[in-house]
Amino acid sequence: MPAESMLHFTGRESATLFVWVPETEGSVKIETNSETHVTQTVQKPNGEEADVLWGRSLKLTAPGIWEITLTASDDSADPVTFTIHAEGDAYPFVIPGPGIVPSHFPIPKPTLLFATKGEATVWVDVPEDLSLLTIGAWVPVQSKGFVQLPDETQLQLSWKPDQGSSSRVAEVETQGRSGWWSLHTEAPSNPFRWTVWEGLPMFLRRPPKRFPYARILCTATDEEGKSMDARFRLFRNGKLTMFRDEFANTPCILHVLPGISVVQVSHGMEFERASEVVSLAQGGTKVLPICLRRILHTEPGWVCGDHHIHSYFEDGGESPEKIVRAARAEGLDYMFITDEPEPLLDYGLDRWCEAGKFLALPGQEIATEKVHMNVLNARRSVGKASSEIGDWLKEVRTQSTPEHPTAIMLNHPSHMSGAEERYAYFRSWWVADEHDQLVLVENYDFPSWFERLNQGRKLVGLWTTDGHDITFLPPGKKRTYVFVGDEFDERTMMEALLQGRCFNTRYPGAWLTLTVNEAMIGETARPDEEGMLMVVVNCEATQPIESVELIADGQVVDVWHGEGSLRLTAKIRLQSGMRWVSARAFVDERGWEADGHSMEPLMASGCIAFTNPVWVERDQASTVR
Ligand SMILES: [Zn+2]
Ligand SMILES: [Zn+2]
Repeated sequence: MPAESMLHFTGRESATLFVWVPETEGSVKIETNSETHVTQTVQKPNGEEADVLWGRSLKLTAPGIWEITLTASDDSADPVTFTIHAEGDAYPFVIPGPGIVPSHFPIPKPTLLFATKGEATVWVDVPEDLSLLTIGAWVPVQSKGFVQLPDETQLQLSWKPDQGSSSRVAEVETQGRSGWWSLHTEAPSNPFRWTVWEGLPMFLRRPPKRFPYARILCTATDEEGKSMDARFRLFRNGKLTMFRDEFANTPCILHVLPGISVVQVSHGMEFERASEVVSLAQGGTKVLPICLRRILHTEPGWVCGDHHIHSYFEDGGESPEKIVRAARAEGLDYMFITDEPEPLLDYGLDRWCEAGKFLALPGQEIATEKVHMNVLNARRSVGKASSEIGDWLKEVRTQSTPEHPTAIMLNHPSHMSGAEERYAYFRSWWVADEHDQLVLVENYDFPSWFERLNQGRKLVGLWTTDGHDITFLPPGKKRTYVFVGDEFDERTMMEALLQGRCFNTRYPGAWLTLTVNEAMIGETARPDEEGMLMVVVNCEATQPIESVELIADGQVVDVWHGEGSLRLTAKIRLQSGMRWVSARAFVDERGWEADGHSMEPLMASGCIAFTNPVWVERDQASTVR
């Protein structure tokens, strides 16, 4: 068989190239024009190591999957371009992993990029029991792409989003079309990321027979045996190769390479992640029931949500359905996709909306150079006709109905140096100052918030993900817990939100509540006859608690130390006279990866959870004092 396939790709840090030898033997030759020192390790199908030298042919003498790991030396950050030649019964492939990896987030860099010029082609064996193929690529909007199905019909790809950043996806239904597909895209002039989310091998050369996928059939239950929505992630040699967000009562099917993989199952920060090592033969199947243990104990009447997520209708990287699945797998009770309401409603976002269970709600981020604001639960576009904030507020009020109450939130204002200088829309606290009807504000700096609370402004603080990529920043990675009481629907949730009956937390996760003379967060406490307040703070965390701070009128008035414990309950009697009281929690975060938006002011503050204020009634006497 002639040397027929040559493809370049770029490795940073360490990249894995697989070679499948279906029956007999073959060879691969890897060349590089780079000066960077790169080491290669080769693992044979039986797990033993083989030697290889640059520019020499590597004989692949046994059938099965060979694994070549290329590691660039530490002192060089330069990307390295490889050329791969394969001959005989040898079929190289890569699995670049899921996610769009948007360029504007400081999150893990992809290790594999394609560097083909002109048109790029790969081959993927689509299994019978797969329903959707999600092709992701860093290509310009107008790039042509198509797939050729096993019956040789061709389907054009329609890339989304059709605006904004260069990360794009195209989804193609696969049911009834199993077999070898070829994927084609117009390649940009730079090395570019190209992947299939579902983690199927992308072959650089078309093999002569079907690929011997192994399968993992995985389910998640809670400790009582009840089936749960969950995220299932598959790692190979420490690298994420695929994930699925699956609804309860639907087994998750993972199509994996023969050999050793690690499956990780999760259901938000409230449950411990479970990991299993799985070893599979070619064509083998493993049934894997996983039980998830609760590690954060929530109280009745509270629901959690995320108020700022983007889909591919704007500059996010996924369909609304993928976002809904991710939000449910993360254990959220509600979420807003904040692109534009009409396309989201036309798409059928309402399908996943059921009062008492889960709410998938439309919203909109209105963005000008000077300000970003999120409209929550709008059913029609706001702000198209006017750039006046006063008009937006009015339009949001007009749209509000008892069935679909609306609200508007000021996004990411910051007077923190670093953020402030970057874009005018970070310097947007003036919006809250000029519009006293504004109640909700997200992802801000504490000092500016405290200053306004001290002036008596009841600004409710939220922590949102502003997610554009569910792989690395899933909905609810930062989340708001809202107290709705016995009934959970759009009305009770929005009411609680606007009253500030909520606290915020982020991974690795903490529960944090506060009462003052039995008034809860968002309510107003009345001092007792002696003018005293009994403050009770309750914190539970998934990591050892370092400290919990009690804040009154912006000043830290007490600090309790967790001393390595996961729970902390503290009580203190305070003299009244302040306007408001709130709490913040800090934990030992060693072992937790930093993620996108780490420069965002609330993240930079270091706390893991914070409450909205309990307001304190101020009588004549205390005001005088
Ligand atoms: Zn924004
Ligand atoms: Zn946004």
